[in-house]
Amino acid sequence: METKYIFVTGGVASSLGKGIISSSIAKLLQARGYNVTIQKFDPYININAGLLNANEHGECYVTTDGHEADLDLGHYERFLGVEMTKQNNITTGRIYQSVINKERREEYRGKTVQVVPHITNEIKMNMTALGNKFHYDFVVTEIGGTVGDIESLPYIECVRQLKWELGKNALSVHLTYVPYLAAAGEMKTKPTQHSVQKLQSLGVQPDILVLRAEQDVDDDMRRKVALFCNVDADAVIQSIDVPTIYQVPINLLNQNMDKIILRKMGLPVDDKEPALDDWRAFLKRRQEAKAVVKIALVGKYELQDAYKSIMESLSQAATYNDSKLKLEFVYSENLNAENTADILSKYQGILLGPGFGQHGVDGIYLAAKYARENDVPTLGIQLGMQCMAVEFARNVIGYADANVKEHNPETQHNVIDLMEENKVMTSMDGTMRLGSFECVLRKGSRTEKIFGKETVSGRHRHRYELNNAFVKDFEKAGMQCVGVNPETHLVEIVEIPGLRWYIGVQFHPEYESSVLNPHPLFLSFIKESLSSK
Ligand code: GLN
Repeated sequence: METKYIFVTGGVASSLGKGIISSSIAKLLQARGYNVTIQKFDPYININAGLLNANEHGECYVTTDGHEADLDLGHYERFLGVEMTKQNNITTGRIYQSVINKERREEYRGKTVQVVPHITNEIKMNMTALGNKFHYDFVVTEIGGTVGDIESLPYIECVRQLKWELGKNALSVHLTYVPYLAAAGEMKTKPTQHSVQKLQSLGVQPDILVLRAEQDVDDDMRRKVALFCNVDADAVIQSIDVPTIYQVPINLLNQNMDKIILRKMGLPVDDKEPALDDWRAFLKRRQEAKAVVKIALVGKYELQDAYKSIMESLSQAATYNDSKLKLEFVYSENLNAENTADILSKYQGILLGPGFGQHGVDGIYLAAKYARENDVPTLGIQLGMQCMAVEFARNVIGYADANVKEHNPETQHNVIDLMEENKVMTSMDGTMRLGSFECVLRKGSRTEKIFGKETVSGRHRHRYELNNAFVKDFEKAGMQCVGVNPETHLVEIVEIPGLRWYIGVQFHPEYESSVLNPHPLFLSFIKESLSSK
């Protein structure tokens, strides 16, 4: 079958959940047996999300091939259970960089290089690249930003051109917002009409409209929207607020989103139910869960989106442990020697979060110390793991000045440092260790039992490592280095077997936990936390 392209744009406001709608559409098509992927085009000039401030933009997601991506790629993987790559997230910066490189290589043979056609052709090439290379049945393309933004204009122009060129093989889904005006006691569709007019003025007629709303959009209102926007009435779909984002595919299914797409794209429509049994089972389990598990996420960022994948992984793991997650954020900057015990004693488990830079790190040390001394189940991720090691070196091994070299270049006990082995390994981005690496687990360790196998892999994004010169000291004092990279011998996992559950990982397990395939570390962490108080 020829690849079909579905373009998802957004209007009226940002943050309406284009990523969730794109993921849900893809999920429904996948559940009908199609081979599906999702890609995102971000209109910013940054080459990737790697240097974006986590406190402003939220988490930087990492793909197995070491791409630093927009956090929506996390939703794509969690919904679909398929791996994303560098090609699934393109920014304006990358488009321009590629065009400028071509210009320097004289590939344009003396022509004036312009937004149209050179930038737009480059965008189109990228929009169709995954389809052409891997012959997906469907490629869902999310266009970042809001229709009408100056910077997304070239993308919308490409959608227009591809719709023209591909005919039935291209489809436009536009997501808008229908606000409820309390003073008028009414829902208002005017912003939607204006947004669609804007899209039409750019030459794109949406085929399907998704209306985000807090309340039910009744049939009359939908017919009105259909009439004013030239969209079939049954293709005006509502997306009402739901308790969990994982409910959204079912909501769309109940309004025949999958069938409407198939019909509009000239594919056969049968009455077979999409294969969503395991998805529905997950939702049912989530709904029926009674027990509550209280977890503290101690982190150096105030913006909760900076820990998006961690939140999702924990909540998936809670569901699979038949419990509801009660996650509270503890901003590490607010912790001090006096209040740490008070604040953290309320929780059954503690997660020490990742991050860059020294700001807020002292609070993570205090949390690590509290957790270790009080035997609270604790999972440390990246910076969190490094803090576990430093705290242990200071307070158990007895190296008072132990530190991360990043935070104190003068320290004699640089238990976390840049390692030569790492520098050799990283070709992608200077000294940053990015992407998936193998890790061999020590036989008999708790971690090996959790994974149930000896060789695992994890996605990395960091510069600093546990310094191999101190491994003996750690092990002698009771912190075991139970996961090691087989090629570089870099330590990837530490655990304290003397405690009930105290594990730190130098990779991001949260990037590898999906709805139908929750990550074993999170499952085990939640299980242990549940029984801890
Ligand atoms: N800043 C630390 C490093 O570069 C940890 C990074 C992280 O938490 N991802 O090694």
